Amino acid sequence: MWKAEDSLELYGIEKWGNGYFSVNDKGDIVIMPGKEPSSSVDVMDLIEEIEKSKDLEFPVLLRFPQILENRIDEITGAFLASIKEFSYQGTYQPIFPMKVNQRKEVIEYIIKYGAKYGIGLEVGTKAELLAALSLGLPREALLICNGYKDEDYLRLALSIHNVNNIVIVVDLFEEIFDILKYAGQMGIAPRLGMRIKLFSRGSGRWVESGGEAAKFGLATGEALELLRILEERGLKESLKMIHFHIGSQITDIRTIKNAMNEAARIYAKARKMCDIEYLNVGGGLSVDYNGSNTATPSSANYTLREYANDVVYTIQKICDDEDVPCPTIVSESGRAIAAYHSMLIFKTIGRKNDKNSFLRSPKEEDPIQIDDLCSAFKEINLDNYKEHYHDALQYRDELYDSFNLGNIGLEERAKGETLFWMVCRKAAFLAKQAEDESEEFQELKKLVSQKYIGNFSLFQSVPDMWGVEQIFPTIPLHRLNEMPSERGRIVDITCDSDGEIKRYAGDSEGLEYLDMHTLLENEDYYLGIFLLGAYQDTLGDFHNLLGCAHEVHVMSDGADWYICQKVEGDTCRKLLDFFNYETKDYIWEIMDRCVDKHLSIPKKELEQIEAQLNRTLKGYTYFITKPNDKKEKEKEMGCSVIRN
Ligand SMILES: *Cc1c(COP(=O)(O)O)cnc(C)c1O
Repeated sequence: MWKAEDSLELYGIEKWGNGYFSVNDKGDIVIMPGKEPSSSVDVMDLIEEIEKSKDLEFPVLLRFPQILENRIDEITGAFLASIKEFSYQGTYQPIFPMKVNQRKEVIEYIIKYGAKYGIGLEVGTKAELLAALSLGLPREALLICNGYKDEDYLRLALSIHNVNNIVIVVDLFEEIFDILKYAGQMGIAPRLGMRIKLFSRGSGRWVESGGEAAKFGLATGEALELLRILEERGLKESLKMIHFHIGSQITDIRTIKNAMNEAARIYAKARKMCDIEYLNVGGGLSVDYNGSNTATPSSANYTLREYANDVVYTIQKICDDEDVPCPTIVSESGRAIAAYHSMLIFKTIGRKNDKNSFLRSPKEEDPIQIDDLCSAFKEINLDNYKEHYHDALQYRDELYDSFNLGNIGLEERAKGETLFWMVCRKAAFLAKQAEDESEEFQELKKLVSQKYIGNFSLFQSVPDMWGVEQIFPTIPLHRLNEMPSERGRIVDITCDSDGEIKRYAGDSEGLEYLDMHTLLENEDYYLGIFLLGAYQDTLGDFHNLLGCAHEVHVMSDGADWYICQKVEGDTCRKLLDFFNYETKDYIWEIMDRCVDKHLSIPKKELEQIEAQLNRTLKGYTYFITKPNDKKEKEKEMGCSVIRN
């Protein structure tokens, strides 16, 4: 018998879930925002609530603010524990880099939950700075300004120097002249940081952001020149921070050790020249998306605690060696804070090249082979799959013979075929479980895989899956106490052949197929894509004019949970407006054209066109299933409700 624990293992949930996700006895995914089983959310209860609500439709993006809180606690906790362990003579402060997720609600949660650790923000553009300023960051919290800075950016940052704890990081050497010029004009003593270029390069996908050829950062000669310029102007006190960032998702701990060594040495040397307060180690802390615990691009070969230990220990050792005071350590772990807190839920809306329909039980008058196939489907297991598969081949042949002799009809033939393929899919799954590499079953595995259409847009909701082929765990959300018997791949509803999930979590390279369950006739099948909180929310595009999904924010409170916030997704109207189709006049224009062209369209038809245009414009951009359901129900109840 297949149990929930088997699914836990099959989908590697504990390997990539970091303790936030599990499966309950009902076979449903549960979310534990605080990692406590006593305070968990059964995702199917949540789905039921969403299905019942009038204003929501799938796909829906779920956010768990408490996961953000837990991540901030864990990351800060790891640094504080390392500081204690090595008796480090300094403190630690977390920073959230806004480019990882600029959503207002997300930043608000982070500021709120991180306040106890004095969490600050890092911004990379004017617009991000404006956004950050609107969010009520406490006065002491660091607000680090990075990126290319024009006059407006610099003047804005300088003008609020005394209201916020701004540090302007010199990312490019030339910037220092502008900064000093405007600061002088404005009569402000700036607080500055200096981004350094390390020789150590990152590894993995984003290596280009580090190393000698990096876009940002000062070479050694430039750094020395900067110190000289500040000294000359009597502004040595202004330099508060040394910063580096060798790239995101650094999957190999050795890279981090090397970079830390180099950066700490640079800090120590510079510290002898002026009173630098902070050493900012940037981002890069990896998230193990595929749960393989390796240095492959979607993973990491180290733990959070190892990371914190390496950072703290290396700085400590080098500061001792060089006999300089230890800095306040600042880190900008964006991905590691944000990734886990959100997931997308979508439904399948059908299969491509359907090899069968739904499971139906056999009738009295059905031929014996249908009964046999049905039993084979029910009884097949790890011990007898070969036998049952071979039997099924025989039943199928017998059925075709019967058909050719005119003994059975098309309907029975169809039923038999359906059942035959269902047995095949289970046999293929079991062969995989049994690590059966025989040619017969290898062939079968290929034969039985199918494409499922998921009601979502990969380009909108998981852009890195398309852009950089990153793996995001994608799994069924229910029926996990049933043995999955289908091998599938999921395609989205864009018309792009790239809109397909090509890799599934499971091993370091990612699996080619997802194990799924037979679709049932009257039941929706729900899937989730996990770990979407970092970079995906704002990188997404409007391919095929599919817009933002509805959002539901969920808090758990002991045994209870509640929806604390809903954010409406895009309507077709909003997207058309965004791309300059002015929907204010849009209906009018179309109707005008309908009337104008001497098509003599009857009035009733014109009314229908107008009503449907109105309705579609107001609707969600994704495949809608709800209104039709409701209409059906209304019909059943014998009442007609006029909708606008
Ligand atoms: C992007 C970026 C980060 C965030 O990196 P993560 O790997 O997401 O933690 C931090 N600091 C700077 C300067 C960045 O550009």
